[in-house]
Amino acid sequence: MTATIIDGKAFAAGIRARVADHVTRLKEESGITPGLAVVLVGEDPASAVYVRNKGRQTVEVGMNSYEHKLPAETSEGDLLALIERLNADPAVHGILVQLPLPKHLNADLVINAIDPAKDVDGFHISNVGLLGTGQKAMVPCTPLGCLMMLRDRLGDLSGLDAVVVGRSNIVGKPMAQLLLGDNCTVTIAHSRTKNLADVCRRADILVAAVGRPGMIPGDWVKPGATVIDVGINRIPAPEKGEGKTRLVGDVDFASAVEVAGAITPVPGGVGPMTIACLLANTLTACCRAHGLTEPE
Ligand code: NDP
Repeated sequence: MTATIIDGKAFAAGIRARVADHVTRLKEESGITPGLAVVLVGEDPASAVYVRNKGRQTVEVGMNSYEHKLPAETSEGDLLALIERLNADPAVHGILVQLPLPKHLNADLVINAIDPAKDVDGFHISNVGLLGTGQKAMVPCTPLGCLMMLRDRLGDLSGLDAVVVGRSNIVGKPMAQLLLGDNCTVTIAHSRTKNLADVCRRADILVAAVGRPGMIPGDWVKPGATVIDVGINRIPAPEKGEGKTRLVGDVDFASAVEVAGAITPVPGGVGPMTIACLLANTLTACCRAHGLTEPE
């Protein structure tokens, strides 16, 4: 039997619709419009596309979008001064600094300059600490999206064996914290893990966040497991024409879909959830700033 394919695009559309409804009510009942400021330093083409998409979707759900595009040679002082202004601006409820930053800028310093209450990416050290200690935090968008899909698919996650492959600060580690918070038994695997195949085969929930195309084959997947593929890898696709490329995940979809109970595709799985969760986080930040009931 082949796995259920988890439709991240539809799921994300549902989240955006709920956010849009809530924003409409906020405007009507309180006269408040949530605002998201996105800061882009430099000309990285992939980052420019992300920022454009974020801005468009922010406006589509009825929020205000403030884009700050700064030249690549912007000094740390100027960037920190902008963040200070955004921290103090009551119309801005969420601040996101698009990563990666140009090499001369210290990303940790910049991220930690954001007011933690406006840190909708959840990368500020305070939010990392709050999440790690089980307190109310701003949660990083990609793992939050993965958790939402897992809860939707599986309901209560208590007692399930979860394996997260990858230990980055933006995906792997917060994903593991979230799964622990939902009472999974969590293993974090990485490039030094021994017998990775056997570790993966234990997983009722297998999350791949590595960045290596198709590295997890179907025979590493426990029959019936739920597989969340965070990887986004661009590979050559000569079948589409010379010089063409396509996106694949970290899981070998063709073989894994034969074994798993459910699986996210790439593209169309985790990817669309990230911006939807960013919008949800911005709404949450706005409600907290105004002492209003938070969305579920
Ligand atoms: P990083 O490069 O920061 O981390 C990759 C992790 O994978 C590291 O912990 C590394 O281990 C581990 N790793 C590398 N090789 C192996 C191996 N052979 N076996 C086991 N583990 C290995 O990547 P990110 O976490 O930032 O991103 C991971 C993937 O997710 C990428 O494809 C990225 O494009 C995608 N992504 C998708 C998003 C979305 O859907 N919106 C958002 C963010 C990321 P070690 O620590 O030992 O080096």
